[in-house]
Amino acid sequence: MKRIGVFTSGGDAQGMNAAVRAVVRFALNQGVEVYAIYEGYQGMVDGGDRIRPIGWSDVGGILHQGGTVIGSARCAAFRERDGRKKAVRNLVEHGIDGLVVIGGDGSLTGASVLRQEWPELINELVAEGQISPEAAGRYPQLAAVGMVASIDNDMYGTDMTIGADTALQRITDAVDAISSTAASHQRTFVVEVMGRRCGYLALMGALASGADWVLIPESPPNLDEWEAKMCQVLAQGRTMGRRDSIVIVAEGARDRHGNAISSEYVKRVLEERLGEDTRVTILGHVQRGGSPSAFDRNLSTLLGAAAVGAILETAPGDDIPVIGMRGNKITRTPLSECLDKTRAVEQAIAGHNYELAMSLRSASFREAFQTLRTLVRALPHGPDPGQRRLRLAVMNAGAPAPGMNTAARAAVRLGLDRGHVMLGVYHGFQGLIDNQIRELDWMSVNGWALRGGSELGTNRRIPSGSDFYAIARNLEEHRIEGLLMIGGWSGYEAILELHGRRNTFPAFSIPMACLPATIDNDLPGSELSVGADTALNNIVSAVDKIKQSAVAARRAFVVEVMGQYCGYLALMSALATGAERVYLPEEGVTLRDLQADVEQLIKGFKQGKRLGMMIRNEKASQTYTTDFMCALFEEEGDKLFDVRTAILGHIQQGGSPTPFDRIMATRLAANCVAYLESQIGQEEPKSACIGLQNGRLGFTDLEDVPRMLDRRFRRPKEQWWLSLRPIARVLAQPGPEDVAV
Ligand code: ADP
Repeated sequence: MKRIGVFTSGGDAQGMNAAVRAVVRFALNQGVEVYAIYEGYQGMVDGGDRIRPIGWSDVGGILHQGGTVIGSARCAAFRERDGRKKAVRNLVEHGIDGLVVIGGDGSLTGASVLRQEWPELINELVAEGQISPEAAGRYPQLAAVGMVASIDNDMYGTDMTIGADTALQRITDAVDAISSTAASHQRTFVVEVMGRRCGYLALMGALASGADWVLIPESPPNLDEWEAKMCQVLAQGRTMGRRDSIVIVAEGARDRHGNAISSEYVKRVLEERLGEDTRVTILGHVQRGGSPSAFDRNLSTLLGAAAVGAILETAPGDDIPVIGMRGNKITRTPLSECLDKTRAVEQAIAGHNYELAMSLRSASFREAFQTLRTLVRALPHGPDPGQRRLRLAVMNAGAPAPGMNTAARAAVRLGLDRGHVMLGVYHGFQGLIDNQIRELDWMSVNGWALRGGSELGTNRRIPSGSDFYAIARNLEEHRIEGLLMIGGWSGYEAILELHGRRNTFPAFSIPMACLPATIDNDLPGSELSVGADTALNNIVSAVDKIKQSAVAARRAFVVEVMGQYCGYLALMSALATGAERVYLPEEGVTLRDLQADVEQLIKGFKQGKRLGMMIRNEKASQTYTTDFMCALFEEEGDKLFDVRTAILGHIQQGGSPTPFDRIMATRLAANCVAYLESQIGQEEPKSACIGLQNGRLGFTDLEDVPRMLDRRFRRPKEQWWLSLRPIARVLAQPGPEDVAV
């Protein structure tokens, strides 16, 4: 394969640019030319200079931009056979051997139709003399790969579609803002979000923002009088002291009979039945707008890189592989399967078979829906028959991480809902030593979902010596039967200490669960920890701003980011901002590295580059500090450019958690409560840490944890994300000077 065409099509989605950039650069890196097809299928039908070469530097500086720089369109002509015939002629004319399609299910359906018709369209074009038989011989079949870009996250074949995470951020930001004004006036708001056939954004938006009711297409309220139920829950919430009420409605929400439920209708119901001042906000295109999130940039980049690999391996005529992501693994699924399974959900909804529609959605979607139903209930409904009332304690430990409160809130409410007594331990292990333990009720965690920091209070204290006696006494005094620790490295260490002493102190023989919450992402048993996504987004938006500040001068930056001895934040932020160099504690820094980097910088600036961006983890090297590196680059840079440092510091830990962190915190907390329940009463109750393992929830027995740790560097021995380093390296190269142009 010598030349590929790349295009973006259908509704735009944040992250499309990152995908185009990765496709272009990886293809060029493999010696394959790339043509951009501007304005999606419209450009393919029009041909001419709408199909033209795109080079390495053409895709520079676009990572942070929303929308798509190569344009997107809905194209009626391509829906007609005649339009597709023109497209085939244009592709052949431009010598394009393969296509990379970035779009939603409509765009991918278009590609599928084109692939099927290709041979006959080629024959017709030859018969009509529009292309030569030789050209036809070179393109007997169409080779293509696809990536799903759609803010709705409505397609089978990938856990997340490009754009969904950013859209969810827009929604969560908006609902957070609305909540505060709603609370001031004790108003009710109905917020309508996108999603005609998929309730993902509405459901996850509700879960992340702590909304009080949600209406989605897949699961209409299971009763005719759903209006009464909704009003009852909202009214109960008011009685309990909740000041704001928020209902999220998906665009495609419907009742059991398939009748649309509009946001205006919900407003009328609330006004008439509750007599509440109710407002409607339709979020609309705000959800598509703005700069892509760190996750969307990196998802698109990884998919784009994998798409190039896939198209080089695809034989003409093969089914189109859809490049997706499950957990943190890249997958290829035949397009026909993706389309069939996606349509099956739509058909189930259209046929009012909602149980089937829900069952066809992913397990995490169903689980999220169940969790939400419990969380919105204004009053705990009490234990299931046969479930004993337990006494569970919840605490934070380690440095504060955004999402800690979300996890604590979810654990407390889900525990109360199961009929348990929920105790809050204040100020981490210090509070457990000092007996700062209080019972928490439903409303005591109200509003915690979106608050950064730690409401319970947290610190890095690890108990030692006589502390253990004090802790044992307090656990016994409060008759604590299970302990949930939401925190970072020192919290894990402390729990291991208690667990290791359970033979000496019977009070420690209770099940304990560790929920990973630290921005550093350096914990065992989980690929991601709660807080890391927020920190990553904080870094990425800071680096975007730093880059803008530099446009006037020729300047290089050394940006120092947190992470302790784990380079996760450094690498992922470098990938998401297009930094040219990243310094990781896992690799260290040598003088030879620095020399090569200086030379690279000088070469780049001599060739007219205006900005250099280097990201350095705070502990990448003890000797070559951020200041040292800055001084070295400045001195050796020979007045070609100046160098500045930016130490991002605690802004990385702060702020409201991202929806991703809130949702993960909620899911993990729900599962921890269930885990503690399952262990209490066992003859030898177990303790564990919970986490995401290849994207799925899993528990690691505490017994197995010590051998997973690299104690010297306070990080796990195995870190999955290290395998992404080569991708960052390829993209950050100065680039073979515009080979394709
Ligand atoms: P999305 O890709 O975001 O789902 P659309 O459904 O609007 O967006 O599809 C984008 C474009 O893909 C359409 O404007 C059309 O050109 C093409 N397309 C969609 N469905 C088909 C189809 N069944 N046959 C041929 N082309 C199609």
